[in-house]
Parts: sequence; structure tokens; C-alpha cells
Amino acid sequence: MTDDILTHRSQTPTLLSRDRLPVDGEPEILSLRPTRIDEYIGQAEAVETLKIAIEAAQMREEPLDHVLFHGPPGLGKTTLAHIIANEMGGRLTITSGPALEKGGDLIGILTHLEEGDILFVDEIHRTPKTVEEFLYPAMEDFAVDFVFDKGVHARSHRFRLNRFTLVGATTRVGLLTAPLRDRFGIFRSLDFYNTDDLVKITTRSAALLETAITEEGAMELARRSRGTPRIVNRLLKRVRDYSQVRGDGSIGFSTVSAALALEGVDEAGLTPLDRRYIQTIITFYSGGPVGIEAIAATLQEETDTLVDVVEPYLLKIGMIVRTSTGRKAAEAAYRHLGFRVQQKIF
Ligand code: ADP
Repeated sequence: MTDDILTHRSQTPTLLSRDRLPVDGEPEILSLRPTRIDEYIGQAEAVETLKIAIEAAQMREEPLDHVLFHGPPGLGKTTLAHIIANEMGGRLTITSGPALEKGGDLIGILTHLEEGDILFVDEIHRTPKTVEEFLYPAMEDFAVDFVFDKGVHARSHRFRLNRFTLVGATTRVGLLTAPLRDRFGIFRSLDFYNTDDLVKITTRSAALLETAITEEGAMELARRSRGTPRIVNRLLKRVRDYSQVRGDGSIGFSTVSAALALEGVDEAGLTPLDRRYIQTIITFYSGGPVGIEAIAATLQEETDTLVDVVEPYLLKIGMIVRTSTGRKAAEAAYRHLGFRVQQKIF
């Protein structure tokens, strides 16, 4: 899990990357990402909305409406952007909110888009306000407005863009401004995956990695992956390493248990950071309520990491509760860490 946090946070994003096909002679990196919508597992409602919108747009020979995905990291937002581009037959350009530092950065990207292209903006809530203003006419009228000179001499020139689809992804929809949010025709929140869907993802990934895994092994891995496909895939690779070196290469229940114990992933799928977070609330702040800044300071972690990565799952499984006065450890959290429940006062 810590790896996931690091990958998510430390990717100081480059301005853009064009989705590209492997070049002849270059080794192809095995991707576990599903590429077509029918291969995408789970998130049934979001998938159904997309299928209908994609088919309707294709029938009208129009670009797809702009799409906004919201949800914790690793649930498949980027994957859906790839799928949309594949299904719509457009090229995919990938950038992120913090990489777009100046209006010129965005204009450069927009003016290079071709008809039907997909522009994916990750962490769109972190787009600077001055850049965001260029997005409004681009999304609504497929145009950018250049302003020349200043004051009374100011003149503006409207530059036409090819019709494209913006796919935005955010972990914090509440931080999106209303004008930006309202310009997305399709908005879907992705939720944590249930164990059945994670078992299917585990089995699919194991097949792609040409690794044998038993039903019990897949079930245990799915159960301990915090409802998140990215974590399933990451842990599967660790378990595969373990079984290759310490076992016979096949993966069963006991291999998963042993490998996850080494990774610090406990019975409930919680990581060392999850446990430190809960323990801090219980031991330093008498079970809460306590503000997130205080927890972050005690843990010496980024507040954003705790809010985006740690808390959503702990809230989902009822280990913590959020009140108007701060975060509180729930009864399940005391039990999980082996504290006596009586010692807290609710
Ligand atoms: P996000 O953009 O939400 O952080 P990603 O789209 O990068 O998440 O997904 C993380 C990884 O999880 C991907 O590499 C992909 O292999 C896997 N994944 C995500 N969603 C699914 C899914 N529905 N089915 C199969 N694999 C998935």
C-alpha cells in the first residue's frame, strides 16, 4: 500500500504523454489494464452509463460528451480513459492538473488535438485557476480565446478547436469549481470493488502473468486488497515472487498468507500506515474526535495522502467515523488493534 501512495503522490507529472503503441523491436511491457469495455470488471453502473453514451455518440458520429470520474486512487479511472479512447477510436493524450502550470501549456495541448481525440486530465481538481479558465470555452464551444494587449486596447481572438472529449479524474470532487463540474456531461463516482469482482481481476491478471493461482489463493488476495484493483495487481506480483523463490511457483492460500505477512498486510488487508493512523487516533487522541492536520502532524505524513488514500477505505469498512469535530476511531478499530473496547467513551 505504501508503494501505492508513493506512486500516486510522487509522480511529479510530466506535461503530457501520448498513448502509444509498442514500437517494433522495443520490448513490450506487459500491461494488466483491460483495453475494451467488455473486459472491464465491476463498476456495473458506470460501465452501463458509458456503454450507452459511447454507442449513442457513435450512432450520431459525434465525439463523446465530456466525462468526469471521481474515486480513490487505483480504482480504474485512468483505465476507463484508455477504454473510452479505444472504443471511440480516438487518440489518447494524458496530462494532469498540476502539470498544467500556465494557460499556454493547456493551449498547446488543445490545439494539437484532432477530431474525436480524448484528453485525459488526472487530478483535475489541482488545475490552477488561470488555466482552468481556458477549459471552459474549450469544453463548451471547442474554442480558445486569445487576448492581445491590455486595458482599453485589449482585443480577443477566438481560435477554433477540433471536437474532442475531455476525461477528468479526481479524488476530491468537492474541490472542483462549480463551473468546471457543470461542464461535464457524464459524471460517475467509482466505489471500492467487492471481493467477487476482485477475485475475477486477480484471476485475469494471474492468467496474463502466466501464474497459477488456486481459488482459495485468489479469494484471500482479493479479500486483503482494500477493495482496489491496483493493490490486487501489486500484491499478486509480490506473491508471485514469493512463490517462485520460496515455493513451487504456484499460488495457494498459504503462499498468499505468508507473502502478505511479509508485506505487512494484515488479516483485514490493512497496511502499516492504516494501522499507524488508527493507533494514533486511539492512543494519542483518546479515540478522537481529532482534526486531520493533527493526525498528519503526529504521523509525519502528508494530509493529502491520508485524505485520498488512507481514510476512504477505513471509512468504508467502518473503522473510523468522520464527525463535524474531527475523526473518531470506531469500535471495530479498537477490536482490530486488540484494544479493550470498554476503555473508550462514546
Ligand atoms: P486510477 O486511475 O483510478 O488511479 P487505474 O486506472 O490506474 O486507477 O487502475 C489501476 C490498475 O488497476 C490498472 O493498471 C489496471 O490494471 C487495474 N484495474 C483497474 N480497474 C480495473 C478493472 N475494472 N478490471 C481490471 N483491472 C482493473
